[in-house]
Amino acid sequence: MMDPAEKAKPYFEAAARGALALQRCAACRTHAFPLRSRCAACGSTALEWSESAGAGRVFAHGKLSRSSLPELEGKLPVTLLLVDLDEGVRIPARLAAGESRAPRAGERVTLSFEHAADGTPLPVFHAAR
Ligand SMILES: [Zn+2]
Repeated sequence: MMDPAEKAKPYFEAAARGALALQRCAACRTHAFPLRSRCAACGSTALEWSESAGAGRVFAHGKLSRSSLPELEGKLPVTLLLVDLDEGVRIPARLAAGESRAPRAGERVTLSFEHAADGTPLPVFHAAR
């Protein structure tokens, strides 16, 4: 049994390069997020890593005005987005700092990373230009 930190290592290695790594089923090519040990579509345990192209469409957005997360201190309110990546997975992430307005549902967005005070890479989205 691999420990969770070891298992997520490819994710953090890709994030350090500004890329979002997703697991993909080697059998049916379905992408998975968050981390799984078995494909939700076909049950295969042959999951490999691939990199997302970093583009998708907003499914929903909302504002977070209270949080106990230290990384959000002084930054509230923040806009949270649920984004359907082109790879077919839905991921939660913040709107990038400096974006003037929240993209509406259906709008195209692109991904990048910001870093928390402790250096943890956080995926964020920008309106696609
Ligand atoms: Zn599969």
